[in-house]
Amino acid sequence: MNTLVRLLRLLAVFRWQIAAAVALGVATVGSGVGLMAAAAFLIASAALQPSIAELQVAIVGVRFFGLSRGLFRYLERLVSHDVTLRILGRFRRWFFRALEPLVPARTAEMRSADLLTRAVTDVESLQNFFIRAMAPPLVAALVAVGVGLLLGTYSSGPALIFVAAFAATAVVVPVAVIRLGAAAGVALTSTRSGLAVAVADGIEGMADLLVFGQGERRQRLVDELSQSCSTLRERAARFEAAGNAGVVLGTHATVLLVLVLAIPMVGEGRFTGVGLAVVCLAVMAAFEAVQPLPAAARGLSEQLAAADRIFAILDECPVVDDPVRSSVEFRADDVATVEFRRVSFSYPGATEPALRDFDLEIGDGCRVAVVGPSGGGKSTLAALLLRFWDPTGGGIRLAGRPLGAYSHHSLRAAVGVLPQRTDLFTGTIRDNLLLAEPEAGQIDLDRAAQTADLLDTIRAFPDGWETWIGEHGMQLSGGQRRRLALARLVLRDPPVVVLDEPTSGLDPITENRVMRSTLEFFKGRTIILITHRLVALDEFDEIVVLDRGCIAERGTPAQLMTTNGLYRQLHDAQRLELSSRTPFNLEEPNNPAMGQ
Ligand code: ADP
Repeated sequence: MNTLVRLLRLLAVFRWQIAAAVALGVATVGSGVGLMAAAAFLIASAALQPSIAELQVAIVGVRFFGLSRGLFRYLERLVSHDVTLRILGRFRRWFFRALEPLVPARTAEMRSADLLTRAVTDVESLQNFFIRAMAPPLVAALVAVGVGLLLGTYSSGPALIFVAAFAATAVVVPVAVIRLGAAAGVALTSTRSGLAVAVADGIEGMADLLVFGQGERRQRLVDELSQSCSTLRERAARFEAAGNAGVVLGTHATVLLVLVLAIPMVGEGRFTGVGLAVVCLAVMAAFEAVQPLPAAARGLSEQLAAADRIFAILDECPVVDDPVRSSVEFRADDVATVEFRRVSFSYPGATEPALRDFDLEIGDGCRVAVVGPSGGGKSTLAALLLRFWDPTGGGIRLAGRPLGAYSHHSLRAAVGVLPQRTDLFTGTIRDNLLLAEPEAGQIDLDRAAQTADLLDTIRAFPDGWETWIGEHGMQLSGGQRRRLALARLVLRDPPVVVLDEPTSGLDPITENRVMRSTLEFFKGRTIILITHRLVALDEFDEIVVLDRGCIAERGTPAQLMTTNGLYRQLHDAQRLELSSRTPFNLEEPNNPAMGQ
């Protein structure tokens, strides 16, 4: 009930369009009633062979209602579909606006296919809420009142019978359909989402499933879920069909009752024979307003379940607030300094903190490399700097101001991150690069690709910049994907640059070349490099070694080499790994699909 009230409150914005659509619905059914009444009058009167002049009004009435019915139906569809599409658009906007601040802290706990089902299928379910569930009962109620009053001016007995039988059919049948079909509707919404998750996961992880011999098992799961969806749909459709039969029964029972009451009245002279025909057909035509109600009732539980799933996202509280109104902007003349002061952070539910009392000051245009073993907390620094989370202790400042003072938009324009995970989108190489700077020209694109050591590779592809890279860039090698992501950041050229494992997936020779050209490009920018690969570190002002959330060592590479600490161990291990490689396996594998 709460969901229904909330949904109606959201739709209040469209009250005038909704009122217009309902009024046109009433006018359509009203024209149908008028058409049937005028036709009944014409046919019944014609049997008595009156002069043509007596039939003129009825003839005009048939023509008028015949035309107006079509016109009103057309206008009603036009207005109701227009309002439905507006409602749909608004729901999508609400959904995405609510989702954005939840990324990634909250969405990490959600499944992407489930979110997709909520954003697409559940929102689309709600389009039926207005057309199918909300408008028809209002139209039916108004038709009952209107036709009841009209019949009342003619004769009160048949009018009362009509109103009572109409109301009983319009209430009892849909309520029965809702009661019987509610469980199926709710189950259908969650099963459909489960099916989407199983299919999406199955497609994404197809290669792994096949390698581990789990393909058939996944197929069985998908089969079972799609079978459940069909069964639930069938069950709900059966209740709707029974409801439709109930409406037909109600219609004819009402006409029969009116006849039973009115025929003796004709005998008593209180009712004319022609009047009897008019009333019976008008009553029958009025039931057109009840016909959509079983379908409305069938969909209601499904739509409310879908609305619940959407409201669950709208109600999620972001982990960090976005001070959009009171925020300050990072200006072009601001110094790009970054300070971490006694920063501590624990992920929700984690037993160990990811960072403990982390202190670091990076001056404008300085370069700091944070190195250390995996799981040490390096990427967490980048996540905190972008305010994906807020520190649980201490604070971070950008240009001397706390991060919390900036709007998310301004902060993310000032701090550009090359994240550890490369997210590429289905499209061409050009599309993926332009994502960073939609207005960039070819010279800028070439320069960014050149910096990331990708220009020759792109030019060698048969389709060059228009090369289609497939879903998630799957038609590129891991190293090519990484360089494309780096080129994207180069194109953005933000004042503060955070490079999280920028060269993962590259062979040591390319790695060194890419690192040097990237550092050259970002000369004068404030750079934080996060890496476990000790490459080009001689170009950094300070190295911070992070281990299990704490700073284990810090200094210049030369200073750190003199102590026999973690940095020295990482350095020696990397040298050992390099010397054990043959020139052959130093090469990054080319992707044959790309014609290289
Ligand atoms: P590094 O970048 O040095 O490999 P991370 O910063 O990614 O280390 O991780 C530090 C610790 O935090 C690890 O123990 C890791 O398991 C944990 N961690 C990282 N991301 C999350 C997350 N989203 N939720 C919970 N724990 C996380």
